[in-house]
Amino acid sequence: MANLPFREPGDDPFQERDDFEDADRGFIAKLSPAVVRTAEGRVVWDNDSYAFLQEECPRTAHPALWRLGQLCARQGLYEVTDGVYQVRGLDLSNMTLVEGDTGVIVIDPLISVECAGAALALYRDNRGDRPVTGVVYTHSHVDHFGGVRGVTDGGVPILAPAGFMEHAVTEHVYAGPAITRRAVYMYGQALERSPRGQIGAGLGMATSTGTVSLIPPTVCVSRTGQEEAVDGVRIVFQLTPGTEAPAEMNFLFPDRRALCLAENATRNQHTLLPLRGSAVRDARGWARYLTEAITLFAGRADVAFASHHWPTWGTDEVVRFLSQQRDLYAYLHDQTLRLMNKGLTGPEIAEAIRMPPRLEGAWHTRGHHGSVGHNVRAIYQRYLGWFDGNPAHLWEHPPRESAARYVSCLGGGAAVVALATDYIAADDLRFAAQLLNHAVFADEGNKEARDLLAEVYTRLGYGAENGTWRNFYLTGARELADGIVPAVTATACPDLATALSVDQIFDSIAIRVHGPKAWNESLSIDWDLTDVGTRYRTTLSNGAFVHQPDPPDEPVDLTLRLTKAQLIGLLAGKGVEGVEREGSIGVLQRLVAVLDDPRPDFPIVTP
Ligand SMILES: [Zn+2]
Repeated sequence: MANLPFREPGDDPFQERDDFEDADRGFIAKLSPAVVRTAEGRVVWDNDSYAFLQEECPRTAHPALWRLGQLCARQGLYEVTDGVYQVRGLDLSNMTLVEGDTGVIVIDPLISVECAGAALALYRDNRGDRPVTGVVYTHSHVDHFGGVRGVTDGGVPILAPAGFMEHAVTEHVYAGPAITRRAVYMYGQALERSPRGQIGAGLGMATSTGTVSLIPPTVCVSRTGQEEAVDGVRIVFQLTPGTEAPAEMNFLFPDRRALCLAENATRNQHTLLPLRGSAVRDARGWARYLTEAITLFAGRADVAFASHHWPTWGTDEVVRFLSQQRDLYAYLHDQTLRLMNKGLTGPEIAEAIRMPPRLEGAWHTRGHHGSVGHNVRAIYQRYLGWFDGNPAHLWEHPPRESAARYVSCLGGGAAVVALATDYIAADDLRFAAQLLNHAVFADEGNKEARDLLAEVYTRLGYGAENGTWRNFYLTGARELADGIVPAVTATACPDLATALSVDQIFDSIAIRVHGPKAWNESLSIDWDLTDVGTRYRTTLSNGAFVHQPDPPDEPVDLTLRLTKAQLIGLLAGKGVEGVEREGSIGVLQRLVAVLDDPRPDFPIVTP
């Protein structure tokens, strides 16, 4: 058995079967085969591809991650409590169904329309053909709304936390292409599913690759204590902004004594900074909202469920679970700050911090998606940023240039490979990876270095308890060997573009302006958005494209009178047909001429 330093000697945590019993509890039926396809027949989800996980853990995986894979790869419809059901294992996330007077309310309709449709069909096959009478989005991440058109076309109440719409699309507007590329690494989207490949992501198995949709909410949950009734079902809300997502909420079904924890308390240590990249989450606020959830709801619930993993049954168990999750985030936050204020930097805190044995000993606090190592660095980043205060780090050469110098100092690429081999022999894979990374960045044609680095990444991946770390290492190894393989990812339907605010649309143009090309360009355009009822002015000067609503009455180079849909069409290259204008259309062409495109498959493990 691998080294699992979180129990007393002789105490074997793998003998505990509670999580397995809970993951199986209430099982009704499964989808068989567990394969979901698009109308054209393309497979967007295949849970059967994880059947190998039910075997013994091989030497190519960390036993704790393998164990979690066994739990997350369970698939089917489950009864949570009277009138509350979950479909698990048909996407990264869970879809929860709450039966009302006349139909069923869907909580979090997965990533893809196709998967959500399959989940609803599985429910209906077993519980009758109930109409969907409401939808709740627990938060603004795509795995909690993308499949909505698989369960409804709208016309029913759709509830979401305040700020949902803005945040649902924000990540796609700004860092979208970079996040999408890094997510290929984080979720292991280009890896084969096998004991030597992708065995999960800690939060669920993988992300589905179907069609992403979005129907705007009709009911805004804007305060804690707000109570709504949907299809005769009472729901009491707690807003938890800035926890796992910028817009998120927990809620209680008081008549069912069932508590939905969104993604604020799952069966693992969550991440304060996903490795794909995002703004840093607030561990302190997260802990505070969990304290509030205990006070408001725990005593009124016999079961708590979330939109990932399996539920927790029993009031005492719910309180214990939530208290430990709360202590986990509070401890990480406070101890990082304590050590930071003694002068330790992120990497030093990651090595120095010690977790309380009772937290470390609970399976649900283990670092399978987040980890102590990357979470404490995220907290450091939130408070102090990228600079650790050491002036040696103020003006370093970028990676390729540094690498060339290191390799030269060490006697050339072959010498670096030889040195790395010694570190590998001494089992210092971490330093071997650093050395070989220099060799590859100094000369990406150094095949010996590439092969050896791929081997080191593979071994680091096999040893990783964290699913996202494993996926990063193994994807890095694969790209060193095979080059960049474009991964199949979910496709967005026009809902997502329609959901953009006018601000977001203009921002999305601004971040595509090729600065140097636009240095000497100067132009102003008024956009009279007839359906929004607002006039916006955009100006381009010094390579900066800025916008403002309700501009002063001054002459501009071009005025366009159009709808928001036409503006979105323009961006998609549909032209200006039907758009009223004053001034020369050449002005618009000058703007388009300085727009740059993102690079979807940029290199990561090579320069
Ligand atoms: Zn999620």
